[in-house]
Amino acid sequence: MTRLLILTLLMVWSLPVQSREPFPLIHLRVRAHLMQSITNPRLQTTLTEKEARVIFDEVNKIWAQAGIRFELESVDSLQALDLAPKRWYIKDRDWVKATIPTNQFSPTAIDVCFVKDMGPNGFFYGEPVVVCENPEFHKVSGGAKNPVARVTAHELGHVLFLQHRQEHTNLMASGKNGVSLNPQEIKDARKRALEIVGHTVQP
Ligand SMILES: [Zn+2]
Repeated sequence: MTRLLILTLLMVWSLPVQSREPFPLIHLRVRAHLMQSITNPRLQTTLTEKEARVIFDEVNKIWAQAGIRFELESVDSLQALDLAPKRWYIKDRDWVKATIPTNQFSPTAIDVCFVKDMGPNGFFYGEPVVVCENPEFHKVSGGAKNPVARVTAHELGHVLFLQHRQEHTNLMASGKNGVSLNPQEIKDARKRALEIVGHTVQP
């Protein structure tokens, strides 16, 4: 009986730390930009500031499993650059990215731009994150209710150096609304999040 008790205690003691206590919260700063364009209406988001704040509330519910919180510093309207319409041979993401005036971005926050229509649901290949307000996706059980929040959370996963993983309920699966992360993804995302915090700490 005593041996069983000791064995049980040892088993509990040897459990990974994260299963016994929550992660210390890591805070990352973000700024949301509502893209505006009269000449290229595909870029002009219909989202409001209030809707953007709701999206980040949902993003934070998704990322709570990793102990990472995106603090929304500001929501502003950002005028897109007046580029010529996209030509067929240009990738949509390249054209959209070229219309965004990145010189107005914050050096201490992750910039997230919302547009109305775009080929991909979202992209991140260096700042900024760009998210389409009308994403196309397949629903999975337990998936996010707010598809724009899911796309935003997925792209922020790429900001945290996570790769695609096509397991259907996973946050990093493409074209779905799953939100789960596995222990390795949580570990990797937290490592990168701490690096970002370290780079942006003000003296
Ligand atoms: Zn992706």
